[in-house]
Amino acid sequence: MKVAFISAEVVPFSKTGGLADVSAAIPKALNELGHETIIITPLYKSIDQEIHKIKLVSTNNLAKVGKKEEVLDLYITHLPNTKVPVYFVKNQYLYREGIYVDTDGIDYKDSPMRFITFTKAVFKILENLEFSPDIIHANDWHTGYLPFYLRTEFSDSKFFKDTKTIYTIHNIGYQGIYPFESIEDARIPEIYLEEDLLGFHKQVNFMKAGIVYSTILTTVSSKYAEEIQTKEFGFGLEKIIQTRKDDLHGIVHGVDSSIWNPKIDSLIVKNYDSKNLKGKKECKSYLQEKLNLEVSDKPLLGVITRLATQKGLYLILKKFDDIMKLGAQFILLGTGESTLETQFKKKEEKYPDDCSINIMFDNVLAHQIEAASDMFLMPSKYEPCGLNQIYSMIYGTVPIVRKTGGLSDTVQDYDPETKTGSGFVFEKSNTKEFFTALKRAILLYNEEPDSWKNLTKNIMELDFSWKKVAKKWQKVYEIALAKK
Ligand code: ADP
Repeated sequence: MKVAFISAEVVPFSKTGGLADVSAAIPKALNELGHETIIITPLYKSIDQEIHKIKLVSTNNLAKVGKKEEVLDLYITHLPNTKVPVYFVKNQYLYREGIYVDTDGIDYKDSPMRFITFTKAVFKILENLEFSPDIIHANDWHTGYLPFYLRTEFSDSKFFKDTKTIYTIHNIGYQGIYPFESIEDARIPEIYLEEDLLGFHKQVNFMKAGIVYSTILTTVSSKYAEEIQTKEFGFGLEKIIQTRKDDLHGIVHGVDSSIWNPKIDSLIVKNYDSKNLKGKKECKSYLQEKLNLEVSDKPLLGVITRLATQKGLYLILKKFDDIMKLGAQFILLGTGESTLETQFKKKEEKYPDDCSINIMFDNVLAHQIEAASDMFLMPSKYEPCGLNQIYSMIYGTVPIVRKTGGLSDTVQDYDPETKTGSGFVFEKSNTKEFFTALKRAILLYNEEPDSWKNLTKNIMELDFSWKKVAKKWQKVYEIALAKK
């Protein structure tokens, strides 16, 4: 199969969240299954071309966007340690310091035209490369217009005659909703802007375009596939998704074991595995020292996250004094909403020996927190898939999660009778249920060290490999290919 995987961010070149991790991992895993897979992504100024050995392929390619011809330069490198080509589109709209926001954190005003231009560029680049894909796999709102253009402007193209599209919703909370005027320069015929097609409350909605026009729709866990069909989680798109429910598949992400693996991780101070957990202790005392916390056996709670309402962090803030009373330590790494940043910083001032708040994006620290923590908190309001609870399990760090989306698919509640399960799960998004789950975890940690150790070992041995996941993707691609 020939697959073109299209994404606004791809690790290790650009990243704001989980989309970047999986935009590298899925193509890599598909390639290992023998499918010819390429990635196409924008070139941003912040990508270091020298470090990543990014080379120029061609200049002055032209893509028609509305009435204008946009000039595109094409660059290439490969995903590290693979043969997967990554093509970068350089264009005046896309070549900026940030991915979605400027250096002051303000959204680029012309985001809609930036990503429409990227979308049109993808068709041009594929033609120029003579890469006629069986599957174009588009992701999130930025590439929502790919399925639309394939079914309209390119519907008569011989080159794309047999091409099918997969559209993956990684987070329905970000749909790309803008006024019609923002895409005026794209000159999309008005007939398509009606409410039953692209229109959404008299605005454009990029994600809706992907949902309506793709051959197959996927999202990142089975539970989230159910949830986005409801009013509570669908953010207004639930009815449209319901109409496509037979074409909707939920596939949880895997983990790249060359990056997230305590046995070989070069970013942590001591490697370890499920058979020998001594190294994990060293990682803990190292981090306690590094972050000026009291070096002790207290249960260490980790959080690595975007500071966004979606993540349910107010539950932690509300119960913070009680958490400290339980004798725990707390480390947070994250950036985002300034009110959350300030509130967490206040906790650090109050509990300097037991609380460390790190407002930054720091991949090394993220690995070190996963290795050092005893427990990892993800009390999300909603969580399409979530990666950190999976990374946590691989690092023997017990996740405490709310039963939603991918958290529900990947973490099974610990049963003290049978001593089975992989974490501590609570149902409702309220402080009582959250705190009860946390107390159960801390009680087991303090009172039953052997059971805790077994739980730690068991979760480290769970299989989250991409190999398994890639076969599910392959199946979905086959379903798409069989569609008329
Ligand atoms: P989301 O995509 O909603 O942000 P995920 O759990 O799917 O959440 O993925 C988040 C990814 O971003 C993980 O790889 C996580 O380690 C990483 N991450 C988030 N915030 C930070 C940060 N401040 N520093 C380093 N890595 C971070």
